[in-house]
Amino acid sequence: PIDERNKLGGVWGIFKLEVSVDKDPGNDFLGVSDGLLEEIAKVLKFPVASMLPPEAFTVVRKSFDARKKEQKFVYTVNMDVSKLLSLEPRTIDFISELEPKTGLIEHLTDQRDSGDFCDLISIVQNCRKNDGISLLTEGLAPGNQNGGSRVYPYSRKPKVAVVGSGPSGLFASLVLAEFGADVSLIERGQAVEQRGRDIGALVVRRMFQEESNFCFGEGGAGTWSDGKLVTRIGKNSYSIMTVLKTLVHFGAPKSILVYGKPHLGTDRLVPLLRSFRQYLQELGVNIKFGTRVNDLLVEGAHVVGVGVSDSVNNLESASLELGYDAVVLAVGHSARDTYQMLLSHNVDMVQKDFAVGLRIEHPQELINGIQYSELANEVQNGKGKVPVADYKVAEYVSAEYEDTPLSSGPTRRSCYSFCMCPGGQVVLTSTDPSELCINGMSFSRRSSRWANAALVVSVSSKDFEALNLHGPLAGVEFQREFERKAATMGGGNFVVPVQTVTDFLESKLSVKRVPSSSYRLGVKAANLHELYPQHITEALQHSILMFEKELPGFISNNALLHGVETRTSSPVKISRNSDTYESTSLKGLYPVGEGAGYAGGIVSAAVDGMYAGFALAKSLGLYRGSI
Ligand code: FAD
Repeated sequence: PIDERNKLGGVWGIFKLEVSVDKDPGNDFLGVSDGLLEEIAKVLKFPVASMLPPEAFTVVRKSFDARKKEQKFVYTVNMDVSKLLSLEPRTIDFISELEPKTGLIEHLTDQRDSGDFCDLISIVQNCRKNDGISLLTEGLAPGNQNGGSRVYPYSRKPKVAVVGSGPSGLFASLVLAEFGADVSLIERGQAVEQRGRDIGALVVRRMFQEESNFCFGEGGAGTWSDGKLVTRIGKNSYSIMTVLKTLVHFGAPKSILVYGKPHLGTDRLVPLLRSFRQYLQELGVNIKFGTRVNDLLVEGAHVVGVGVSDSVNNLESASLELGYDAVVLAVGHSARDTYQMLLSHNVDMVQKDFAVGLRIEHPQELINGIQYSELANEVQNGKGKVPVADYKVAEYVSAEYEDTPLSSGPTRRSCYSFCMCPGGQVVLTSTDPSELCINGMSFSRRSSRWANAALVVSVSSKDFEALNLHGPLAGVEFQREFERKAATMGGGNFVVPVQTVTDFLESKLSVKRVPSSSYRLGVKAANLHELYPQHITEALQHSILMFEKELPGFISNNALLHGVETRTSSPVKISRNSDTYESTSLKGLYPVGEGAGYAGGIVSAAVDGMYAGFALAKSLGLYRGSI
């Protein structure tokens, strides 16, 4: 056997395998093509590619590199040496010469390196077996040692309220329910079926539901989204792969584990959330839709319950839900009323920097042309060989571009594209009809005629102070200021103010008949250059000129800026203990996810919810292992 003759054996990773578009079967193909085998053979210095058995190789990452002149697919492949057994003994001698010196090949010693990740359900079940505490067999669970005297009678599971069913709330609920907690998942919005109908009524008949819209409802803000699963917290880390594997468990395609830039699209997110819900219910989670938490009940600096109201019928009279041992607050960044309520309880919160700007929309064809040149024909509305083109641009703008440089404030602002949606559409993400803000979504094929992305500039406390806004919620007021201004500029009824990028750069409004937009509720030509304070407008103008250098053609009469993009991330951070995830000021409160200031996107929110779930399970005495 090969291992006896070859001490190396095992699994090897082979990296940076570049296959040209003409030799690759296309973006959707995740197997081992002849073109890929040729590249593998080159790295292995194996003379005859066709003799390599394809079954010995697994594609673990595939991305499309549009940056180079000659665009290529770039692969990472795992090679299982035991599957090379079919080779002639003489021809496999090359394996003993493999050395990780080139950086292109590496012996994978860790099981996780070889792509053998588990989903969260298996991980928790394993932890529970090894380090969990069975409430029924041990008589008394040890209770919360930190809290002193709280012990749970064996007949009573610890009771947890998880507020919000976005990615962070769902993942926290999953961990806690798997560990045996009695979880109530409380969501102000509706289940995806009803939420879909509410969003349909908004887009078609302008019927706006304050509690069931693009931000609120099952799955949270990211349900009617592009479903990009990329995150800046690392690409292949264990926690991210755990989240992705869990999404696959609930119905996401396995390809998200392989693509360099995985995304789902709304059409795949909706059924996925349905099966996530069903699983939680099978675990005994009590899911309450249409229920808004509008108060916390505090006894002796410890949360013991929540005040809720029926958000469907907009009944303000709150009813009380008592007896909770902990409350996980996973409310997202648009729950402004919830922030206000926390403030009234003196929960520790601080301002957080975020970014504001406009959403730019181009014809997708134009972006394909800029990024791919002749290869643009291969896109074919998301059905072709290469992925629908995207872009990512960033620029630092020094304060010299600012009319009134901020003396002790930032000397540089960052200006960048954000949440780019190829083949997508611009959507309304307001949660109050007097305010107007937008974002982007797409379906899995990304086949619409438009490409949109936010172009945003970082803002901080100095910007809030300049508008005389102070206190932990100053950033919220800052957002609101420009959302209201945008609503006024649009003329009401959710009509979005727009301006061609060429006019915006020249601070004028010459084009009154604007190019068409994917935004379904109507657009109106407006002086967007007058919407933000001058230094923000100038930072945007300067950056757009820089982006043109990187993406020639970006500045075009067909590029339309839409106002406003204000909810890029949370304007608030709710302080918590970094080990226990518990609020620094209120025992039993666990602020998690984007709204608490610890995540910025679907995957990072899910990761945060997952870790918070483990930390809370530990402090509730359901788990004694490491997190
Ligand atoms: P949320 O997802 O915001 O969930 C919070 C939930 O809490 C909501 O369902 C809300 O209804 C509920 N809630 C709030 N207050 C209360 C209360 N008082 N009582 C009961 N329930 C309450 N991210 C990406 O990574 N990729 C993308 O492609 C992407 N596209 C996006 C497109 C759009 C249109 C939007 C709006 C966002 C997009 N995002 C995207 C951002 C992403 O959705 C968020 O980062 C992520 O959902 C944050 O997760 P969360 O669990 O922290 O909060």
